[in-house]
Amino acid sequence: MKFDMLMDYLMFRTGGEEDNLSDNPTVTTGSIVWGVILRTSIVIILTLFLIRYTDFNEYWWYSFFVIWFFVAFPAFKQYQKFSERIKTLEEDTLCGKCRHFNQGAQTCQIYDVHVSKNHIPCEGMNWEPK
Ligand code: SF4
Repeated sequence: MKFDMLMDYLMFRTGGEEDNLSDNPTVTTGSIVWGVILRTSIVIILTLFLIRYTDFNEYWWYSFFVIWFFVAFPAFKQYQKFSERIKTLEEDTLCGKCRHFNQGAQTCQIYDVHVSKNHIPCEGMNWEPK
């Protein structure tokens, strides 16, 4: 598949509420951070290429607009969606109300595995209130 649809369009994968049912979520803080790094690298490389081989010297600062529209804003929107999804997961699951739940990674800190609406790794045995 075309390099996994160009790495799910450079890591700002679509994902959504269905991630809360999956033990292998598509959108995580890691995927968003990787997307920012990849996209920023692409913009910097293209800017350097244009400066080197065209008369882009006077307009290099346009790349800040590209970084805003291609990197920062989409990453911010995806992070907002991710935060809302995690909030739903916290409200709807036992793990979400447990002190061992890691919001950023969507994992259990004891078992070091992803939790979901369908999967409570300890089956409630290690649950402790926040
Ligand atoms: S200890 Fe149990 S309830 Fe708490 S986050 Fe881990 S799996 Fe979920």
